[in-house]
Amino acid sequence: MNAASAILISAIAMTLIVGVRYLIVSGAFALATRWRFPGLYAGLDPQIRREIRWSLASAAIYGIPAGMVAWGWQNRGWTQIYSDIHAWPLWYLPLSVLFYLFAHDTWFYWTHRWMHRPRPFRIAHAVHHASRPPTAWAAMAFHPYEALTGAVVIPLLVFSIPIHVGALGLVLTIMTVMGVTNHMGWEIFPRFMWRGHLGAWLITASHHQRHHEQYRCNYGLYFRFWDRFCGTDRGVGSFDER
Ligand SMILES: [Zn+2]
Ligand SMILES: [Zn+2]
Repeated sequence: MNAASAILISAIAMTLIVGVRYLIVSGAFALATRWRFPGLYAGLDPQIRREIRWSLASAAIYGIPAGMVAWGWQNRGWTQIYSDIHAWPLWYLPLSVLFYLFAHDTWFYWTHRWMHRPRPFRIAHAVHHASRPPTAWAAMAFHPYEALTGAVVIPLLVFSIPIHVGALGLVLTIMTVMGVTNHMGWEIFPRFMWRGHLGAWLITASHHQRHHEQYRCNYGLYFRFWDRFCGTDRGVGSFDER
């Protein structure tokens, strides 16, 4: 098989993986929501259908570059992804995970904040905020332009920062789970993750739901560092008593 068709197959496979991963993870948390707070998504069916359509389009936008990079990693040694766990010192494993999360968070904070300017908001980011309130299905509900800004992050990082393939798997898992749970409409994590000393620096649903309520605050993805540093942090919201 020539390289072009191998890259095409890799891109299609990765699109399917991202799409199916989205359906499974969002579906699981939507089920958990129905079990924990029956009726929380009542009347949101048309919105949920929209969220799923935009998310599946995003799956292709994430999947195509990821598939190309995965092919290059396997066949051309393009990336800094390593599979021998001793290629780098063991202490580097947790550090690389933190570094990837912080780099992604930084990119997200600034592009997200920029997308709240009137023009980019109207053209792209309004799609994400059309979810009022968002549900577990809104995790990847982005306009293709916005999905594109998210799709380049991990490929750029794997080209430049060494990471073990397992640590990369952990980063992608955290990315997927937080994307879903932050939009779920209730707090699934224990109190110490969103209150107190640690919670003051971490983002969970309690923090991100305030972004969806008030728009011009709480722009971050995983950490509250940039929001606090730039004065855009308005604290965690409380979900209505149910
Ligand atoms: Zn959101
Ligand atoms: Zn926003």
